[in-house]
Amino acid sequence: MPINIGDILKGQYKVCRKLGWGHFSTVWLCQNLSNDGPIYVALKICKSAQMFTVVAQDEIKLLRDTKLIDPLHMGYRHIVQMVDTFKLLSVNGVHTAISMEIMGPSLLHLLIQSDFRGIHLSGVKRIITQVLKGLTYLHERCRIIHTDIKPENILIKVDENYIKNIIGKTEKFAELGIDMPRSYVASDCWIDKDRSIRDSDENILSKFEEQRGQSYPYDKFLGELPDFRRRHCEPRLNAPMWVSPNIEIKIADLGNACWEEHHFSSEIQTRQYRALEVILGSGYSFPADIWSVGCMCFEMATGEMLFSPKGEREPAANLDHLCLIWETLGGIPQYITENGTNVRHYFTNGELLGVDRKLLRIWKIEDVLVEKYKWKRVDAIPFAGFLESLIEPDPALRLTASMALQSEWITMNE
Ligand code: ADP
Ligand code: MG
Repeated sequence: MPINIGDILKGQYKVCRKLGWGHFSTVWLCQNLSNDGPIYVALKICKSAQMFTVVAQDEIKLLRDTKLIDPLHMGYRHIVQMVDTFKLLSVNGVHTAISMEIMGPSLLHLLIQSDFRGIHLSGVKRIITQVLKGLTYLHERCRIIHTDIKPENILIKVDENYIKNIIGKTEKFAELGIDMPRSYVASDCWIDKDRSIRDSDENILSKFEEQRGQSYPYDKFLGELPDFRRRHCEPRLNAPMWVSPNIEIKIADLGNACWEEHHFSSEIQTRQYRALEVILGSGYSFPADIWSVGCMCFEMATGEMLFSPKGEREPAANLDHLCLIWETLGGIPQYITENGTNVRHYFTNGELLGVDRKLLRIWKIEDVLVEKYKWKRVDAIPFAGFLESLIEPDPALRLTASMALQSEWITMNE
């Protein structure tokens, strides 16, 4: 749908700039010109093809449930809420539009800004606690499975001034009569140089010189920069307001969600966050989301994915994924490998098909944290214990969202 900055949609929503996009939609930051509702909203405009419209209708039903079922629940405010929905006509056909409360960058942005080194454990704990509260509400009150928990879909709350600032930049270009840089119209507005929390190159140069006690030619330094950055620069976590100690997040994108009693697909979740039972085709429910939380929790703390299987095609990708899970858990109980529509492709008598067990290197999370990420063992032990209870291979034994909220790692003091 051709949308321009400055367009007024439904006589009410003034388009300010693009916020992001996904498979189904483009999301715009809009100012709400009516006296009703919030001043700024995120307007998700879905593609017009019939298939997208059907998916959008389901998303609206799911959003309606989460909006109405229990506003007093402690997890309610950790789910991005719908404000309004309507239809738009374009040359391409009918588009479903959903306005939602406005949020800021996603956890993926946070990871990018940390140069993929992860964020402090206290921040991880705060974020994961809120994700679990949101899931308690979705699972236990709404009976909804999100099916796509991952850093991109967890959004950070920002205040109105932050939003104004983002819009202000766009308006300045218009005032000056300058065409906006493509990045402002087309790209992701949160990744933008002057707001970056990365140390600037100049800052790092002075750190570099300080360490060596001599000045250093800038050109030469630039060649060594990426490596130096990796080794010596701590993520500057308190720089921007959205990584402040009181960071607040909400779960977004119910575009793939479903009800416990009404699934839309047997293959769910983004590859790296996909639960064991989904890979095996042995049926899934709420525990599949908890597995994804475990993967995401590791990633927020280390900056790297817990499982990143190689290959796109099946069965190679699944087999690699299963090997990684095996190595991380130190094995997969045989009874888990006996049920599921896909197990015969990957297992025989509890052994991975075509994989020499001697070539698997058992590497438990605790040791990965200590050996690869140089954590102190005292920090690694409780964190690894928590993660292992989220990626427990048997979904029936995996912690539920409310059990996870009571777990030791979440409740213990620093
Ligand atoms: P899709 O279902 O097409 O994947 P999403 O709902 O994930 O769409 O939205 C796509 C992107 O738009 C998100 O990754 C995020 O960057 C941005 N976005 C979505 N909802 C909001 C919101 N409420 N506030 C701010 N940005 C949002
Ligand atoms: Mg999405």
